[in-house]
Parts: sequence; structure tokens; C-alpha cells
Amino acid sequence: MTKQKPIHFSPPVITEQDIKEVVRVLKSGWITTGKKVKEFEQMLASYIKVPEVLCLNSATAGLEILLRALGIGPGDEVITTPYTFTATASVIHHVGAKIVFADVIPDTFFISPEEIKKKITHRTKAVIAVDIAGLPCDYSKIKQILNSKKKLYHPETGTLQMAFSKPVLIADSSHSFGAVCKNKVSGTWADCSVFSFHAVKNITTAEGGAIAFQKAKTLFQKKLISTCRLFSLHGQTKHAFQKETAGWRYDISVLGYKFNMTDIQAALGISQLKRYQTILTGRKKIFERYLVHFLNDKRFIVPAYNHKTIQNAYHLFPLRIKKFEEIDRDLLISLMKSENIATNVHFVPLPMFTAYKKLGYNISDYPDTYNTYKNLITLPLHLKLSLKDVDRVAFHIKKFVAGK
Ligand SMILES: *Cc1c(COP(=O)(O)O)cnc(C)c1O
Repeated sequence: MTKQKPIHFSPPVITEQDIKEVVRVLKSGWITTGKKVKEFEQMLASYIKVPEVLCLNSATAGLEILLRALGIGPGDEVITTPYTFTATASVIHHVGAKIVFADVIPDTFFISPEEIKKKITHRTKAVIAVDIAGLPCDYSKIKQILNSKKKLYHPETGTLQMAFSKPVLIADSSHSFGAVCKNKVSGTWADCSVFSFHAVKNITTAEGGAIAFQKAKTLFQKKLISTCRLFSLHGQTKHAFQKETAGWRYDISVLGYKFNMTDIQAALGISQLKRYQTILTGRKKIFERYLVHFLNDKRFIVPAYNHKTIQNAYHLFPLRIKKFEEIDRDLLISLMKSENIATNVHFVPLPMFTAYKKLGYNISDYPDTYNTYKNLITLPLHLKLSLKDVDRVAFHIKKFVAGK
């Protein structure tokens, strides 16, 4: 029997217009950080409704730059979730601070405010919450907890941590670009929010990311934004484009990093952002087709979707199968592969990886994270899928589950 055509997990969707915009930059004589990056930053800022966005070469860079600009390092602790991609936590380690994991709310993907509360100490300098699959964490609850523990916050004198009166709340919003919660778009929910434009994300620049900053109320907060900008390109007071237009002489005000976005990437991002509503509508259609198959079938737990005040960004469709253990799920994934259907798991909890085990983390300390992970399979969700493809995916899942 010939195999059916492959269903890929998350191929990028690049239109002729996207290609045209990139080619235009390639031919323009300016391909690295310049006017296009500026334009993309301004478009993102007005879409998110924040005063300032900084574009970078990844979300990982955004998270690390924030921690460094805040002066977080050895002796400090940053609380995050074990239920995420390694980038969220590895940056904490890279700046020399301690990764403190707080378990998820039972039967969800989201960091538990109650667990955060238990983990806050006088060393806690930031919390990085993650909007898994395209939905927000409970930010109002997290803020409430951080407020209640305000007395424990001791920012180091002279650092930009002092711009905040409690641990800095950072959103890893890599999955939630375009999501809305109580009429506020993702990017406005935390003190700072970080987005990813990696190839598999809702908007892609191949590799890329951005930080959205809230309106700066104090000089220190303004300085956080300008420091992140300086850090992103070697601490130079002028980057190459400005040197060309405003004179060659520049200063190195801090020893910075090499995290800048190029105009080629920005051109792709601009082109995708212009049609983002269509992208979201297309993803929603696929998501809702999965719901038709799984919502009313008691063997499955579908991901949270819309409710009155929350609008999903439809980044992933993580499906959970009630009676499954890890071994059943792994078998299901290989069966799907034999049907030429690519699936995935978001996420393997960080304490299950060698590098994190070596640092002393143990999955048995995060039972709710394990319970969410063990019976979860992420289904393909992208604009190259037809509704028939979705039906085929659902058919094979149900067939396997029925046979168990
Ligand atoms: C993709 C992703 C990242 C990393 O994004 P990059 O742009 O590749 O650095 C971080 N966190 C989460 C939750 C992600 O899914």
C-alpha cells in the first residue's frame, strides 16, 4: 500500500509577497540592522500597543538581555516553570543566577501562582512565566502574589532592578503573539514580554525575537530600555546604519552582545505581520476542526481555548489522552509517524533532560508538570493543512486510542 502524503508538523508559510519584500532588501544595498528593523519595531509596538519594542535575533537573546540589563547574576534566583523550552531557563543559568522551578497548576500547562508564592525568597529577582500554546498565564494572580511578597524584594543598589518594587515579571510570550486577555494584547501583560519569530512560530523571520516594554514611568525604567538596546549590539552608541548617516565617531558605553536583527529578517516579519489577521483566522479554523473531533469525546482533554475574556493565538494544539501513560503516548507518536504524520510533545519537562539533572533538578519534585506531559501529544497546526488533513490526523489518533 502506498503511503498517504506526509503531514508535516509546522512548516513555515512563505508567500510570494514575503519573498518580494526580502528580495527588495537584498537589492537595496543595506541588509543588516537599519531602516527595516526600525519599521518592524514600530509596527510591532503599535500592534501590541506599547511605546517601545526592541527586535533581536531570538527570543532567547531577549530573555538573556533583560536579565543582564536588570543586573541579575550570581547569588540571585529567578523563578520559572519546568514546563517550557530550555531557552526560558538556560538564560537564568547563563547570567549566573539560580533557576528555581515552580510546578504548573494541576492539569494545565501554566505556572502555578501558589507554587511561585512558595518559592519566593529574599534572593528572588524575577519571575519568567510562559504562555504555553498561545494562551496567557494567570498574570493578575501572579502579580497579586508578587505584591504580597513585596517585602522580600531587595534590589541591588545601583542596578536597574531598582526600577521595580517587586521581582520583575517577564513573560516568555513566544507562543502568544496576537492573543488577547481582557482586551489587552500579549506583550502588555507583564513588566516586559519576549516574543519569538523562529521558523515554527506564528510569525517568522527564520530566526528572530523581540522585547515589548511597558511605558517607562521612571528614569530607571527608561534606562532599562536603552540598556537593552545598547546591549543588543556591542554597547555601541551608534550602529552601522547610524554611522553611515550621522558620522563615524561612536563610543562603546558598555561591553555588549551581538543580538541584533537584520533588515532581511525584519522585511520578512513586516510582510507577515501585515497579514497576521489572516494567519490567525487560518490557524483558528484548524484548531476548531480538531475541537469538532475531540471536544465531546470523554477520552480526551482538549487544550483550553477561547472564553469570554481570552482569545487564543492558536499556536499549538496539545491534546491529552486521559488513560495514557508516557509509554502509550510514545507508541502513539511512532504509529502516527508510520502513517506519515508528524506530531510532537510540548514540552518534555526540563528536569527530565540530562543537563538539568546534572544541576540537581528532579522531575519527581514537579508532579503536576509530569502529569500534564505524560499523556500529551501536540498535533500539527499550520496553514498548509486542509480540513481533510486534520480529519486524517484525528482518525488515526482515535483509531489507536480505541484499540488500547
Ligand atoms: C521558541 C521558544 C523559545 C525560543 O525562541 P528563540 O527565538 O528560538 O530563541 C523560548 N521559549 C519558548 C516557550 C519557545 O517556544
